[in-house]
Amino acid sequence: MDWQSIAQTLQDSSLQVIRDPQQVAKLSQDYFHFSPVLQEQLGDYRGDLAVRARSETDVLTVAQLCVREGIPLTLRGAGTGNYGQCIPLRGGIILDLSGLNRMLRLEPGLALAEAGVKMATLERQAQTLGWELRMAPSTCRTATLGGFISGGSVGAGSINYGFISDAGNVRSLRLVTLEDPPQILTLRGEETQAVLHAYGTNGVVTQVELPLAPLFPWAESIIAFPGLKPAAEFSRALSFSSGIVKKQIAVHADPIPRYFSALQPYLPQGGSIVFTITSDWDRPALADLIKRHGGTLTDYQPQSGADCRGLTEFCWNHTTLLARAVDPTLTYLQVFYGDLERVLRLQEQFGEEVMIHLEWLRVAGNPAPAGLPLVRYQSAERLAEIIRLHQEAGAVVANPHAYTLEGGGTGPLNPALLDLKRRADPFNLLNPGKIEALL
Ligand SMILES: Cc1cc2nc3c(=O)[nH]c(=O)nc-3n(C[C@H](O)[C@H](O)[C@H](O)COP(=O)(O)OP(=O)(O)OC[C@H]3O[C@@H](n4cnc5c(N)ncnc54)[C@H](O)[C@@H]3O)c2cc1C
Repeated sequence: MDWQSIAQTLQDSSLQVIRDPQQVAKLSQDYFHFSPVLQEQLGDYRGDLAVRARSETDVLTVAQLCVREGIPLTLRGAGTGNYGQCIPLRGGIILDLSGLNRMLRLEPGLALAEAGVKMATLERQAQTLGWELRMAPSTCRTATLGGFISGGSVGAGSINYGFISDAGNVRSLRLVTLEDPPQILTLRGEETQAVLHAYGTNGVVTQVELPLAPLFPWAESIIAFPGLKPAAEFSRALSFSSGIVKKQIAVHADPIPRYFSALQPYLPQGGSIVFTITSDWDRPALADLIKRHGGTLTDYQPQSGADCRGLTEFCWNHTTLLARAVDPTLTYLQVFYGDLERVLRLQEQFGEEVMIHLEWLRVAGNPAPAGLPLVRYQSAERLAEIIRLHQEAGAVVANPHAYTLEGGGTGPLNPALLDLKRRADPFNLLNPGKIEALL
Protein backbone atom coordinates (compact mmCIF):
# COMPACT_ATOMS: atom_id res chain seq x y z
CA MET A 1 0.00 0.00 0.00
CA ASP A 2 1.31 3.49 -0.72
CA TRP A 3 1.03 6.36 1.77
CA GLN A 4 -1.88 7.91 -0.14
CA SER A 5 -3.91 4.69 0.23
CA ILE A 6 -2.88 4.31 3.88
CA ALA A 7 -4.04 7.87 4.63
CA GLN A 8 -7.31 7.20 2.78
CA THR A 9 -7.92 3.96 4.71
CA LEU A 10 -7.43 5.81 8.01
CA GLN A 11 -9.66 8.69 6.94
CA ASP A 12 -12.35 6.21 5.89
CA SER A 13 -12.33 5.07 9.55
CA SER A 14 -12.95 8.72 10.58
CA LEU A 15 -9.41 9.20 11.87
CA GLN A 16 -7.71 12.58 11.66
CA VAL A 17 -4.66 12.17 9.41
CA ILE A 18 -1.88 14.74 9.16
CA ARG A 19 0.25 14.73 6.00
CA ASP A 20 1.50 18.29 5.87
CA PRO A 21 5.30 17.80 5.92
CA GLN A 22 5.91 20.64 8.38
CA GLN A 23 3.35 19.36 10.85
CA VAL A 24 4.60 15.78 10.49
CA ALA A 25 8.16 17.01 11.05
CA LYS A 26 7.06 18.78 14.23
CA LEU A 27 5.27 15.70 15.50
CA SER A 28 8.42 13.66 14.76
CA GLN A 29 10.47 15.51 17.37
CA ASP A 30 10.73 16.00 21.09
CA TYR A 31 13.22 17.80 23.36
CA PHE A 32 16.15 15.69 22.15
CA HIS A 33 17.83 19.01 21.25
CA PHE A 34 18.83 19.42 24.93
CA SER A 35 21.62 17.05 23.87
CA PRO A 36 24.09 18.21 21.21
CA VAL A 37 24.99 14.56 20.70
CA LEU A 38 21.39 13.53 19.95
CA GLN A 39 20.90 16.64 17.81
CA GLU A 40 23.63 15.34 15.59
CA GLN A 41 22.30 11.78 15.53
CA LEU A 42 18.53 12.32 15.36
CA GLY A 43 17.90 15.66 13.67
CA ASP A 44 16.66 14.29 10.33
CA TYR A 45 14.23 11.52 11.22
CA ARG A 46 10.59 11.97 10.20
CA GLY A 47 7.40 9.94 10.22
CA ASP A 48 5.56 9.41 6.94
CA LEU A 49 2.27 10.59 8.38
CA ALA A 50 0.67 11.34 11.74
CA VAL A 51 -2.71 10.25 13.07
CA ARG A 52 -4.69 11.66 15.99
CA ALA A 53 -6.55 9.07 18.04
CA ARG A 54 -9.56 10.07 20.11
CA SER A 55 -10.59 6.65 21.41
CA GLU A 56 -9.30 3.16 22.05
CA THR A 57 -11.23 2.07 18.93
CA ASP A 58 -9.12 4.53 16.92
CA VAL A 59 -5.97 3.00 18.43
CA LEU A 60 -7.15 -0.50 17.47
CA THR A 61 -7.82 0.65 13.90
CA VAL A 62 -4.31 2.07 13.56
CA ALA A 63 -2.75 -0.99 15.22
CA GLN A 64 -4.60 -3.34 12.82
CA LEU A 65 -3.43 -1.39 9.79
CA CYS A 66 0.19 -1.30 11.01
CA VAL A 67 0.20 -5.06 11.63
CA ARG A 68 -1.43 -5.82 8.26
CA GLU A 69 0.93 -3.57 6.28
CA GLY A 70 4.07 -3.93 8.46
CA ILE A 71 4.20 -0.19 9.22
CA PRO A 72 6.37 1.11 12.10
CA LEU A 73 4.32 2.91 14.74
CA THR A 74 5.70 5.58 17.08
CA LEU A 75 3.55 6.84 19.94
CA ARG A 76 3.36 10.41 21.10
CA GLY A 77 1.81 12.19 24.06
CA ALA A 78 2.91 15.82 24.33
CA GLY A 79 6.40 15.25 22.90
CA THR A 80 8.30 16.59 25.93
CA GLY A 81 10.61 13.57 26.20
CA ASN A 82 14.31 14.38 26.31
CA TYR A 83 16.01 11.49 24.57
CA GLY A 84 14.35 11.34 21.17
CA GLN A 85 11.91 8.82 22.62
CA CYS A 86 9.20 9.72 20.13
CA ILE A 87 11.46 10.24 17.13
CA PRO A 88 10.49 7.67 14.47
CA LEU A 89 13.80 6.06 13.51
CA ARG A 90 12.18 3.92 10.80
CA GLY A 91 9.54 6.39 9.61
CA GLY A 92 5.98 5.08 9.46
CA ILE A 93 3.01 6.37 11.43
CA ILE A 94 3.15 8.71 14.42
CA LEU A 95 0.17 8.14 16.67
CA ASP A 96 -0.72 11.23 18.67
CA LEU A 97 -2.58 10.07 21.78
CA SER A 98 -3.29 13.47 23.30
CA GLY A 99 -6.91 13.21 22.12
CA LEU A 100 -7.53 10.25 24.45
CA ASN A 101 -8.24 12.73 27.19
CA ARG A 102 -11.19 11.60 29.28
CA MET A 103 -11.03 11.31 33.06
CA LEU A 104 -12.79 8.01 33.70
CA ARG A 105 -12.98 7.80 37.49
CA LEU A 106 -11.81 9.89 40.41
CA GLU A 107 -12.28 8.94 44.01
CA PRO A 108 -10.39 9.68 47.22
CA GLY A 109 -6.93 8.15 46.74
CA LEU A 110 -7.40 6.80 43.22
CA ALA A 111 -7.71 8.06 39.63
CA LEU A 112 -8.44 6.28 36.36
CA ALA A 113 -7.83 8.28 33.20
CA GLU A 114 -7.17 7.88 29.50
CA ALA A 115 -3.51 8.02 28.53
CA GLY A 116 -3.70 11.40 26.78
CA VAL A 117 -5.04 13.27 29.82
CA LYS A 118 -2.69 16.07 30.77
CA MET A 119 -1.15 15.59 34.20
CA ALA A 120 -2.22 19.09 35.21
CA THR A 121 -5.84 18.23 34.42
CA LEU A 122 -5.71 15.21 36.66
CA GLU A 123 -3.90 17.24 39.34
CA ARG A 124 -6.53 19.98 39.30
CA GLN A 125 -9.45 17.57 39.50
CA ALA A 126 -7.87 15.42 42.22
CA GLN A 127 -7.19 18.51 44.31
CA THR A 128 -10.91 19.29 44.47
CA LEU A 129 -11.21 16.02 46.47
CA GLY A 130 -8.21 16.78 48.71
CA TRP A 131 -5.79 14.56 46.75
CA GLU A 132 -3.06 15.07 44.16
CA LEU A 133 -0.56 13.22 41.97
CA ARG A 134 2.04 11.28 43.93
CA MET A 135 4.66 12.79 41.66
CA ALA A 136 4.52 15.35 38.86
CA PRO A 137 7.30 16.15 36.40
CA SER A 138 8.13 19.80 35.91
CA THR A 139 6.35 19.41 32.55
CA CYS A 140 3.13 18.64 34.45
CA ARG A 141 1.25 21.42 32.60
CA THR A 142 1.93 19.87 29.19
CA ALA A 143 2.88 16.20 29.63
CA THR A 144 0.33 13.42 29.26
CA LEU A 145 -0.19 10.63 31.73
CA GLY A 146 0.72 7.95 29.18
CA GLY A 147 3.84 9.87 28.12
CA PHE A 148 5.00 10.30 31.72
CA ILE A 149 4.67 6.65 32.67
CA SER A 150 6.29 5.55 29.38
CA GLY A 151 9.02 8.18 29.11
CA GLY A 152 9.38 9.99 32.43
CA SER A 153 10.30 8.77 35.87
CA VAL A 154 10.28 11.33 38.71
CA GLY A 155 9.16 14.80 39.77
CA ALA A 156 7.79 16.89 42.63
CA GLY A 157 6.64 14.29 45.15
CA SER A 158 9.48 11.86 44.40
CA ILE A 159 11.07 12.75 47.76
CA ASN A 160 8.14 10.77 49.22
CA TYR A 161 7.17 8.29 46.50
CA GLY A 162 10.39 7.68 44.56
CA PHE A 163 10.19 6.70 40.89
CA ILE A 164 7.02 6.10 38.92
CA SER A 165 8.33 2.54 38.53
CA ASP A 166 8.45 1.94 42.30
CA ALA A 167 5.97 -0.74 43.29
CA GLY A 168 2.56 0.71 44.07
CA ASN A 169 2.82 3.95 42.10
CA VAL A 170 0.80 2.57 39.17
CA ARG A 171 -2.25 0.44 39.98
CA SER A 172 -3.15 -0.81 36.50
CA LEU A 173 -2.82 -0.10 32.78
CA ARG A 174 -4.83 -0.89 29.70
CA LEU A 175 -2.78 -1.62 26.62
CA VAL A 176 -3.42 -2.22 22.90
CA THR A 177 -0.97 -4.73 21.42
CA LEU A 178 0.37 -5.07 17.88
CA GLU A 179 -0.35 -8.77 17.64
CA ASP A 180 -2.24 -10.19 14.69
CA PRO A 181 -4.99 -9.29 15.44
CA PRO A 182 -4.30 -6.58 18.05
CA GLN A 183 -5.49 -7.38 21.56
CA ILE A 184 -6.41 -5.34 24.62
CA LEU A 185 -4.50 -6.30 27.78
CA THR A 186 -5.05 -5.16 31.34
CA LEU A 187 -1.89 -5.24 33.44
CA ARG A 188 -2.17 -4.93 37.21
CA GLY A 189 0.28 -4.18 39.98
CA GLU A 190 3.70 -5.67 39.35
CA GLU A 191 2.77 -6.54 35.73
CA THR A 192 2.72 -2.82 34.91
CA GLN A 193 6.49 -2.61 35.53
CA ALA A 194 7.08 -4.01 32.04
CA VAL A 195 5.57 -0.89 30.47
CA LEU A 196 6.99 1.84 32.73
CA HIS A 197 9.75 3.84 31.03
CA ALA A 198 9.58 1.46 28.05
CA TYR A 199 9.35 4.34 25.53
CA GLY A 200 6.16 2.91 24.03
CA THR A 201 7.99 -0.11 22.64
CA ASN A 202 5.71 -2.83 23.98
CA GLY A 203 2.12 -1.64 23.70
CA VAL A 204 -0.09 1.41 23.33
CA VAL A 205 -1.23 2.51 26.78
CA THR A 206 -4.84 3.67 26.57
CA GLN A 207 -5.75 3.92 30.27
CA VAL A 208 -3.82 4.44 33.48
CA GLU A 209 -5.00 3.85 37.04
CA LEU A 210 -2.95 5.66 39.69
CA PRO A 211 -3.06 5.87 43.47
CA LEU A 212 -3.00 9.51 44.62
CA ALA A 213 -1.32 11.35 47.50
CA PRO A 214 -3.09 13.37 50.20
CA LEU A 215 -3.05 17.10 49.46
CA PHE A 216 -1.32 19.39 51.98
CA PRO A 217 -1.44 23.20 52.17
CA TRP A 218 1.86 23.51 50.31
CA ALA A 219 4.15 26.52 50.56
CA GLU A 220 7.14 27.33 48.36
CA SER A 221 10.39 28.67 49.81
CA ILE A 222 13.51 30.15 48.29
CA ILE A 223 16.45 29.88 50.67
CA ALA A 224 19.86 31.42 49.99
CA PHE A 225 23.20 30.10 51.29
CA PRO A 226 26.73 31.44 50.93
CA GLY A 227 27.93 28.31 49.11
CA LEU A 228 27.07 24.81 47.91
CA LYS A 229 28.19 23.01 51.09
CA PRO A 230 25.77 24.66 53.55
CA ALA A 231 22.98 24.59 50.93
CA ALA A 232 23.52 20.88 50.28
CA GLU A 233 23.75 20.08 54.00
CA PHE A 234 20.51 21.96 54.66
CA SER A 235 18.83 20.08 51.82
CA ARG A 236 19.96 16.77 53.30
CA ALA A 237 18.73 17.73 56.77
CA LEU A 238 15.33 18.69 55.35
CA SER A 239 15.13 15.48 53.30
CA PHE A 240 15.68 13.45 56.46
CA SER A 241 13.40 15.57 58.70
CA SER A 242 10.53 13.16 59.18
CA GLY A 243 8.37 15.77 60.90
CA ILE A 244 8.48 18.32 58.07
CA VAL A 245 6.09 17.30 55.32
CA LYS A 246 7.61 18.06 51.94
CA LYS A 247 7.37 17.34 48.25
CA GLN A 248 10.24 19.18 46.57
CA ILE A 249 13.85 19.96 47.53
CA ALA A 250 16.26 21.23 44.88
CA VAL A 251 19.69 22.84 45.18
CA HIS A 252 21.21 25.10 42.54
CA ALA A 253 24.87 25.98 42.91
CA ASP A 254 26.25 29.28 41.67
CA PRO A 255 26.09 30.33 38.82
CA ILE A 256 22.83 28.47 38.00
CA PRO A 257 20.57 30.97 39.87
CA ARG A 258 21.71 33.64 37.41
CA TYR A 259 19.74 31.83 34.69
CA PHE A 260 16.43 32.30 36.58
CA SER A 261 15.66 35.83 35.42
CA ALA A 262 12.06 35.78 36.74
CA LEU A 263 13.30 35.13 40.30
CA GLN A 264 16.22 37.57 40.44
CA PRO A 265 14.80 39.71 43.33
CA TYR A 266 14.94 36.60 45.56
CA LEU A 267 18.36 35.33 44.46
CA PRO A 268 21.36 37.04 46.03
CA GLN A 269 24.40 37.08 43.73
CA GLY A 270 27.08 34.49 44.12
CA GLY A 271 25.58 31.94 46.49
CA SER A 272 23.70 28.66 46.22
CA ILE A 273 19.93 28.45 46.35
CA VAL A 274 17.55 25.83 47.72
CA PHE A 275 13.97 25.63 46.46
CA THR A 276 11.55 23.73 48.67
CA ILE A 277 7.87 22.90 48.76
CA THR A 278 6.82 22.01 52.31
CA SER A 279 3.58 21.94 54.26
CA ASP A 280 2.56 25.40 55.50
CA TRP A 281 1.69 23.70 58.81
CA ASP A 282 5.41 22.99 59.26
CA ARG A 283 6.60 26.58 58.71
CA PRO A 284 8.05 27.03 62.23
CA ALA A 285 10.10 23.82 61.98
CA LEU A 286 11.34 24.82 58.53
CA ALA A 287 12.36 28.26 59.88
CA ASP A 288 14.33 26.58 62.70
CA LEU A 289 16.14 24.32 60.26
CA ILE A 290 17.04 27.23 57.96
CA LYS A 291 18.43 29.16 60.92
CA ARG A 292 20.48 26.20 62.14
CA HIS A 293 22.15 25.89 58.71
CA GLY A 294 22.82 29.61 58.24
CA GLY A 295 20.37 30.09 55.37
CA THR A 296 18.30 33.15 54.51
CA LEU A 297 14.67 32.76 53.55
CA THR A 298 14.23 35.18 50.66
CA ASP A 299 10.70 34.20 49.70
CA TYR A 300 7.88 32.15 51.23
CA GLN A 301 4.62 31.73 49.33
CA PRO A 302 1.70 29.48 50.25
CA GLN A 303 0.59 27.85 46.98
CA SER A 304 -2.77 29.11 45.86
CA GLY A 305 -4.65 26.27 44.15
CA ALA A 306 -1.64 24.60 42.58
CA ASP A 307 -1.95 24.04 38.86
CA CYS A 308 1.58 22.75 38.34
CA ARG A 309 2.97 26.29 38.13
CA GLY A 310 5.48 27.71 40.58
CA LEU A 311 8.93 26.69 41.75
CA THR A 312 8.70 23.21 40.23
CA GLU A 313 9.05 24.94 36.88
CA PHE A 314 12.55 26.02 37.95
CA CYS A 315 13.51 22.49 39.00
CA TRP A 316 14.11 19.11 37.33
CA ASN A 317 14.74 19.60 33.63
CA HIS A 318 13.14 23.03 33.64
CA THR A 319 16.44 24.19 35.10
CA THR A 320 18.09 23.00 31.89
CA LEU A 321 15.36 24.59 29.76
CA LEU A 322 15.78 28.00 31.45
CA ALA A 323 19.57 27.89 31.38
CA ARG A 324 19.58 26.92 27.69
CA ALA A 325 17.26 29.84 26.94
CA VAL A 326 20.13 32.09 28.09
CA ASP A 327 23.02 29.96 26.80
CA PRO A 328 22.04 27.34 24.18
CA THR A 329 25.48 25.74 24.33
CA LEU A 330 24.67 24.30 27.77
CA THR A 331 23.62 20.70 28.16
CA TYR A 332 23.12 18.40 31.17
CA LEU A 333 23.61 15.03 32.84
CA GLN A 334 21.42 12.85 35.04
CA VAL A 335 23.39 11.70 38.07
CA PHE A 336 22.72 9.65 41.18
CA TYR A 337 25.42 10.88 43.54
CA GLY A 338 24.89 8.52 46.48
CA ASP A 339 26.14 11.06 49.04
CA LEU A 340 26.89 14.76 49.37
CA GLU A 341 30.61 14.33 49.88
CA ARG A 342 30.80 13.00 46.32
CA VAL A 343 28.79 16.01 45.09
CA LEU A 344 31.27 18.40 46.71
CA ARG A 345 34.28 16.50 45.35
CA LEU A 346 32.82 16.59 41.83
CA GLN A 347 32.15 20.30 42.15
CA GLU A 348 35.77 20.83 43.04
CA GLN A 349 36.95 18.59 40.20
CA PHE A 350 34.93 20.27 37.43
CA GLY A 351 34.31 23.82 38.67
CA GLU A 352 31.88 25.70 36.43
CA GLU A 353 32.24 23.20 33.60
CA VAL A 354 29.68 21.05 35.49
CA MET A 355 27.30 23.18 37.55
CA ILE A 356 25.67 21.30 40.39
CA HIS A 357 21.88 21.01 40.39
CA LEU A 358 20.57 18.56 43.00
CA GLU A 359 17.12 17.01 43.29
CA TRP A 360 16.35 14.89 46.34
CA LEU A 361 14.29 11.78 45.84
CA ARG A 362 13.56 8.55 47.63
CA VAL A 363 15.68 5.67 46.33
CA ALA A 364 14.86 2.22 47.74
CA GLY A 365 13.14 3.87 50.69
CA ASN A 366 15.78 6.47 51.64
CA PRO A 367 16.21 10.11 50.63
CA ALA A 368 19.11 10.38 48.17
CA PRO A 369 20.75 13.23 46.25
CA ALA A 370 20.32 12.94 42.51
CA GLY A 371 20.71 15.74 40.07
CA LEU A 372 20.67 17.25 36.63
CA PRO A 373 23.93 19.21 36.58
CA LEU A 374 24.42 21.66 33.73
CA VAL A 375 27.41 21.02 31.52
CA ARG A 376 29.33 23.56 29.45
CA TYR A 377 29.52 21.52 26.28
CA GLN A 378 32.83 21.34 24.44
CA SER A 379 32.68 18.14 22.42
CA ALA A 380 31.13 14.67 22.41
CA GLU A 381 34.50 13.28 23.50
CA ARG A 382 34.77 15.61 26.49
CA LEU A 383 31.14 14.85 27.45
CA ALA A 384 31.91 11.11 27.40
CA GLU A 385 34.97 11.78 29.52
CA ILE A 386 32.94 13.78 32.05
CA ILE A 387 30.49 10.88 32.31
CA ARG A 388 33.36 8.43 32.76
CA LEU A 389 34.95 10.58 35.46
CA HIS A 390 31.62 10.74 37.31
CA GLN A 391 31.38 6.95 37.15
CA GLU A 392 34.96 6.56 38.32
CA ALA A 393 34.11 8.81 41.26
CA GLY A 394 31.35 6.34 42.18
CA ALA A 395 28.32 8.24 40.84
CA VAL A 396 25.72 6.51 38.67
CA VAL A 397 24.86 8.30 35.43
CA ALA A 398 21.66 7.77 33.43
CA ASN A 399 23.05 9.10 30.17
CA PRO A 400 20.61 11.58 28.59
CA HIS A 401 22.72 11.66 25.42
CA ALA A 402 21.62 8.17 24.34
CA TYR A 403 18.34 7.33 22.62
CA THR A 404 18.09 3.60 23.32
CA LEU A 405 16.59 2.14 26.47
CA GLU A 406 19.84 0.41 27.32
CA GLY A 407 22.00 3.47 26.55
CA GLY A 408 19.97 5.74 28.83
CA GLY A 409 19.48 3.22 31.63
CA THR A 410 21.50 2.52 34.74
CA GLY A 411 21.50 -1.29 34.50
CA PRO A 412 20.28 -4.21 32.43
CA LEU A 413 16.82 -3.96 30.85
CA ASN A 414 13.95 -5.34 32.92
CA PRO A 415 13.43 -8.86 31.42
CA ALA A 416 9.65 -8.37 31.84
CA LEU A 417 9.86 -5.43 29.40
CA LEU A 418 11.43 -7.65 26.76
CA ASP A 419 9.01 -10.53 27.47
CA LEU A 420 6.07 -8.18 26.93
CA LYS A 421 7.76 -6.77 23.81
CA ARG A 422 7.99 -10.25 22.30
CA ARG A 423 4.39 -10.99 23.10
CA ALA A 424 2.73 -7.64 22.39
CA ASP A 425 4.83 -6.54 19.41
CA PRO A 426 5.98 -9.73 17.65
CA PHE A 427 6.72 -7.86 14.39
CA ASN A 428 8.83 -5.19 16.15
CA LEU A 429 6.74 -2.32 14.83
CA LEU A 430 6.48 -0.22 17.99
CA ASN A 431 9.10 2.54 18.14
CA PRO A 432 11.69 0.35 16.40
CA GLY A 433 15.37 1.10 16.99
CA LYS A 434 15.02 2.01 20.67
CA ILE A 435 15.94 -1.43 22.09
CA GLU A 436 19.55 -2.43 21.40
CA ALA A 437 18.81 -6.08 22.17
CA LEU A 438 16.56 -6.15 19.07
CA LEU A 439 18.79 -4.24 16.65
C1 LIG B 1 11.72 21.10 30.27
C2 LIG B 1 11.52 19.64 30.58
C3 LIG B 1 11.37 19.23 31.90
C4 LIG B 1 11.19 17.87 32.21
N1 LIG B 1 11.02 17.48 33.52
C5 LIG B 1 10.84 16.19 33.82
C6 LIG B 1 10.64 15.77 35.17
O1 LIG B 1 10.56 16.56 36.09
N2 LIG B 1 10.53 14.44 35.40
C7 LIG B 1 10.54 13.51 34.40
O2 LIG B 1 10.41 12.32 34.67
N3 LIG B 1 10.68 13.90 33.11
C8 LIG B 1 10.82 15.19 32.80
N4 LIG B 1 10.96 15.58 31.49
C9 LIG B 1 10.80 14.59 30.43
C10 LIG B 1 9.32 14.52 29.94
O3 LIG B 1 8.64 15.72 30.20
C11 LIG B 1 8.57 13.45 30.63
O4 LIG B 1 9.10 12.25 30.26
C12 LIG B 1 7.08 13.55 30.25
O5 LIG B 1 6.32 13.12 31.27
C13 LIG B 1 6.74 12.92 28.94
O6 LIG B 1 5.35 13.12 28.67
P1 LIG B 1 4.83 13.40 27.19
O7 LIG B 1 3.34 13.34 27.20
O8 LIG B 1 5.42 14.64 26.66
O9 LIG B 1 5.41 12.12 26.46
P2 LIG B 1 6.12 12.01 25.05
O10 LIG B 1 7.38 12.79 25.04
O11 LIG B 1 5.14 12.29 23.98
O12 LIG B 1 6.46 10.46 25.05
C14 LIG B 1 7.40 9.92 25.91
C15 LIG B 1 7.60 8.43 25.56
O13 LIG B 1 6.42 7.74 25.89
C16 LIG B 1 5.88 7.09 24.73
N5 LIG B 1 4.41 7.23 24.85
C17 LIG B 1 3.69 8.37 24.84
N6 LIG B 1 2.39 8.09 25.04
C18 LIG B 1 2.30 6.74 25.15
C19 LIG B 1 1.23 5.84 25.35
N7 LIG B 1 -0.03 6.25 25.49
N8 LIG B 1 1.49 4.51 25.41
C20 LIG B 1 2.77 4.05 25.31
N9 LIG B 1 3.81 4.86 25.10
C21 LIG B 1 3.58 6.19 25.04
C22 LIG B 1 6.47 7.80 23.54
O14 LIG B 1 6.58 6.94 22.43
C23 LIG B 1 7.83 8.18 24.08
O15 LIG B 1 8.71 7.10 23.94
C24 LIG B 1 11.15 16.92 31.16
C25 LIG B 1 11.31 17.34 29.85
C26 LIG B 1 11.49 18.68 29.56
C27 LIG B 1 11.63 19.09 28.12
